[in-house]
Order: sequence, then structure tokens, then C-alpha cells
Amino acid sequence: MSTKDSASIDQLTSALLEQEERVRNLRLQNCQHEELTVEQERLKELHRKLNETLKETGLASAADSDMQKNFPREALEGLLRRRFFIAPSFEIYGGVAGLYDYGPPGTAVMNNIIQLWRQHFVVEENMLELQGTCLTPDVVLRASGHVDKFSDMLVKDVQTGDCFRADHLLKEHLSKIIQDEKTPLEKKEAAESTLALVEEMDLDEMAKQLRHWDVRSPETGNSLTDPYPFNLMFQTSIGPTGLLPGFLRPETAQGIFVNFRRLLDYQGDKLPFACAQIGTAFRNEIAPRSGLLRVREFTQAEIEHFVHPNKKEHPKIEKVSQVRVVLFPRRNQLTASRQTVYMTIQEALEQQIIDNETLGYFIARTQLFALKIGLNSDKIRFRQHLQHEMAHYAKDCWDLEVESSYGWIECAGLADRACYDLQNHSEKSHVDLTAFEVFPEKKQMEVWVAEWNKGLLGKTFRHEAASIIKTVESFSDSEKQNLQKSLETQGSISVSMEGKQYHLSRDMITFKKVTKSVSGQNYYPSVIEPSFGIGRLLYCVWEHNFYIRSGDDEQRAVLSLPAMIAPYKCTVLPLSKNAVFQNLITLVTEKLTSLGIQHKVDESGVSIGKRYARADELGIPLAITIDFDSLKDSSVTLRERDSTKQVRGSIDEMIHQVHLLSNGKAEWNDVVQKHPIWE
Ligand code: AMP
Repeated sequence: MSTKDSASIDQLTSALLEQEERVRNLRLQNCQHEELTVEQERLKELHRKLNETLKETGLASAADSDMQKNFPREALEGLLRRRFFIAPSFEIYGGVAGLYDYGPPGTAVMNNIIQLWRQHFVVEENMLELQGTCLTPDVVLRASGHVDKFSDMLVKDVQTGDCFRADHLLKEHLSKIIQDEKTPLEKKEAAESTLALVEEMDLDEMAKQLRHWDVRSPETGNSLTDPYPFNLMFQTSIGPTGLLPGFLRPETAQGIFVNFRRLLDYQGDKLPFACAQIGTAFRNEIAPRSGLLRVREFTQAEIEHFVHPNKKEHPKIEKVSQVRVVLFPRRNQLTASRQTVYMTIQEALEQQIIDNETLGYFIARTQLFALKIGLNSDKIRFRQHLQHEMAHYAKDCWDLEVESSYGWIECAGLADRACYDLQNHSEKSHVDLTAFEVFPEKKQMEVWVAEWNKGLLGKTFRHEAASIIKTVESFSDSEKQNLQKSLETQGSISVSMEGKQYHLSRDMITFKKVTKSVSGQNYYPSVIEPSFGIGRLLYCVWEHNFYIRSGDDEQRAVLSLPAMIAPYKCTVLPLSKNAVFQNLITLVTEKLTSLGIQHKVDESGVSIGKRYARADELGIPLAITIDFDSLKDSSVTLRERDSTKQVRGSIDEMIHQVHLLSNGKAEWNDVVQKHPIWE
């Protein structure tokens, strides 16, 4: 590529980024429709030009990855069902789309991942942890914006009523046009430009494009309705009266925000601090698909890290500054070559690719966790959100994406959500959710103060007056300013305390701006939120660790799970069903149990080879075999799953090695150094 070409690509990419920002700002300002349309057209034009230039310079779009083309997904999914890692929920009644049960080995691996997550984040980072309820009243999710905005665009087949996600249908339709060799060049290019913008479309634009491309119901070819927003939350009512509407929580995060006041007290009013929560989240996905990747009930593990908005340094950043990560910054996503960059966290912060240290710290820690649970380092990346993907309040967002046979999958989201959640809950609940910052020395500042007519207040509210004053005094400056506006326009304001509303009139209270010498101020902390989907991680771990081994007579599937997350660390295999082995089996299992090692005895009559294969399918990394020599000298063999090599030694020594290997304190090579391979 010539320098001129690369300069023109650079220029176009910069123009495109600026235009994206412009469109995002117009949307935020709810600007006039015509103006937005003009700017969106400009954005489309820039996408088109950039694609053209990239094609001319020979930088074509990235093709499907190797994993998408070659991964034996059917074999893995067959294994997961056959060995009851997972099964469709309510299978005996025909199942329900998007709901899965985890069987014994699936549950064990899931629990092991959760335990590692808790150790890696909660324990090592000294976080707080809480457990909130799944049932959430309407008022909470209204304040968080979920009632109004947590939706996908839905279209229906006008004849059958079948439902589809509008964006999925449009994308699939356009991809078919692009791939069809008979499509004329001009149409193909138009389809490419539209495809690049699908994620950014609002309802009107989506309706326009569905009509323009004549998208139809995939199976019947029938017409579709216009798209409309479908809220993804499961609605219910709490209690027998039906008067308290609620939802099953769509994320665990809100349970932490609503407890912020108590958490801050618990923490001795000191920031920064983080609180984690692991629990179930529910989303009524329109079209659950891709197996475990898009389901309607799943386990989330979320962290809310609260910091001062201007102090996002992280005290432990040094510890991870040299961790190397694959980053896919916003700018690089807009070019067809779509190149990622491989750099240290320190470099990414110095070059301002990642916005702040705390976000960088969590990206590094997330990468270390991903590798610990067995994800392949060549198949993970951190992708920065494009402007239109970020909520308006968000400062910077990165997704941990994992490559799978379904493409790149978001398994965790790391977002700087600024103070949006705390401020909204504080304003809607009228409970102070600010922290207090003490200045090194006093400052002259303009502040809003309440002036009370305490006589009238006392007469009206009697013993409750003091609590009302305390509550109102704790409001932030901007809330006091807003309340003064309400007093001026409506003549009164209402304050809620412990679920009760108190109406204060203009003759009881007014707010004024005054200049004061102050020793500190209240502020809403910013929130940095790493949010993990455990089911997605687990599925990707299965894919990354699945392979087929060619045996003597047949092909055998292996799940090479790291010992730390394997459902059992060790299987115990007597050579045959002969009763003479019973005492030794009992001895070995007692010793394993006393060390807390999850294990499984397989006393079935099938050959040792078949039993090894069964253990390999379950991902069990080690096998202790008891044979006739064991009866003489209490020695056993220890076999490792991936190399299929064995060593031999005393029961105590072999169990000691199992203990070290399953805690990640030794590797198989260390064992082989000490104990020669036994043929
Ligand atoms: P979000 O709040 O949408 O950023 O989701 C946080 C995390 O939850 C994602 O990174 C996913 O790992 C996971 N997740 C979201 N939706 C689903 C779903 N329908 N099925 C499984 N996991 C999900």
C-alpha cells in the first residue's frame, strides 16, 4: 500500500469517527429528524467511501475465522448432552427455547469457575460482596432506565405471528445479497454500506431499510410487520394484590447500586471500593439461539467499582502494567482490514487507547482470569465499543470477546458508567447516594442551601420535621437547584422517606445559591463495571479445550479442562471388578476425600482404555489405576489426560502429586521430572 493510500484511509477513518460522534450527539440532544437524517446519510457515505478505498488498496474484509469454518461443533454439543453437562430444561415436555439445565459435571465446572472468579476478584482485590433479590420492583428499573430502554426491535410474520429480531433479519438478508455472485456490483455495495450501519439504526430507519430491501419472514416468505420495541424484561407482580408491579432482574448490578448508602457506611465512608455480586439474571430474548450463548436465564458475576470521577488511578496498576493484551480499538474496527493491536496495559494507557487506569487494571485482571480458566490466549481480545454502542452516559467501554465457532462472542463487558446509576437512583428515591470529599484546605464555593420556615414545618409535620430537614440537607447541589425550579413552577415539592411522601410548599422551604467557605463537598462516585456472563465463558472454555484424539480403533473426544475447573480432578480405576481391589479403592478415596479432592471411582467392567476415554470426555485430568501389583506393594499408576503418559509410585506419593496438580501448584512436567515414565 502506498503512503498516499494509507494517508487517505487515515483521513477517511478520522472523518468517520468524527461523524459517528456527531450523529451520537444529535441523538442525545433529540434533535430534529431532518437534521439527523442528513448527518446519517453523510455517515453512510463515509462508510461507503472508506470501504471502496480499502477494496482498491486490496484490504478486503476479514473472512470467517478458522474456528467458524472447521470447529466440530456437533461433536462437542453431542458430548455435552450425552455426558449430561447440559440438557434443555423441561426436556421431557419438549423443552423451552433459551432455557438449559446443567447436569452433574456441568454444575461442577460452573461452580469451579465461580469459585475461581470469587478468589481472583473478590478475595484478591478485597472486594465487598452482596446477594440481592431477583424480584425487583418496577420503580427501581424505571429509575435505571430499563423499563423505557431495555428493548430490542421485534418484527412479526403477518400470517403466522412468528417473532424475529429485526436487526438479525436485516443482517442475514443483506449478507445473502452480498454473498450472491449474481448480485450486481452497485447493489452489492449498497448492501455493504447498509450492513455497516445496522447496529446504529433507530426504529424509523430500521423500518425504512426493511421495506427498502424487501425483507420477509425467513421460512414462509410472508410480509413482516413494522419493527417495534420489545422490552426484554420478564414482568410480574409482587404479592397477591397485583398492585406492586415488578420484574425479574435483567442484571445483578442494580442490587448493588440500591445498597450503595449501606455499602459506603460499611466501608467507613472511604472510596474507592468495589462490591461484587454473583447471581441469576433474566432476559426474555426474542430469538434465543447459538446454544448457551444467548439464553433467557443465566448467571452473571458483576463488580461495581466506585471511584471519585477525577481520580481513576489504580493503586495496583504497577502489578499489571506489563500484562499484554490484544486490543481492538474503535478506530481499527472501522477499517476493513480490522487489525487488532498487541500491547501492554502501560502502553495502552500512555497512548490513551484505554481511558483510565482503573479500567486498564480490570482489563488486565480479566485477561489473567480468562487464561486461568482455560481460554486460549490466541482467541481472546478486548474490543472497544463504537460510539453508537455506548450508552450516552458511558465514558469508555471494552468487551472481552472470545472467538468461538459462532464467531467473536462478548463474554464480559467492562464499562466506565460515570455516575449515571447512583445519580438516577438518588434523584428518584430522594435518598442521598453521594460520597463526601474532604478538601486539603477550605475553599470558597458557590453552593445551594435550603432556607426553612421551621415553625410551619414543625406545625405541619411535628416529630417528623427533623428527619425531613436531614433528608433534604443531604441532597446534592444539582438536586437542590432542580427542587428550587419545581418550587417556582409548581409551588411545592415532594420528598420521600421510608416509602412515604411529604409535600413541602414554597412557604416552608426555598433554596438559594450562596458563596461559602467549605471544607469539602458531596459528589456522585463514578462506577467502573466489569460484568461477566458465566455461561458464555463456560461454553467458550469447552470449545477451546475440545479435541478429537485418534485412537487405535476409534476417534475419541477429549475435554482438556485445566485441573482447577475440571468437574473431578481424578478418576480411580481398579483394573477389573475383582473384589480384591475393594480395600485399596476405599483407602485411595478416603485419602483423596481427606484432601478435599473431587474424584470419581469407575468400577464398571469395561476395559481400562474405555474408562480412560470416558474420563477424558468428562475433562478429568488424572487417573489413578489400581492393579495386581498394587496389592503387593501399595503402588499405583498415575495417568495424565493430554499426554496419556503414566508414572508409578506409592499411593501417598501419587495422591500428593494429584493434590499439587489439581491446585495449580505443579505441572505434569514437574511430576515426570521426579517419577520416570512408566510403560
Ligand atoms: P450486558 O449487561 O448486556 O453487557 O451483559 C453482561 C454479560 O452478560 C455479557 O457480557 C454476557 O456475557 C452476559 N449475557 C448477556 N446476555 C446474555 C444472554 N442472553 N445469555 C447469556 N449470557 C448473556
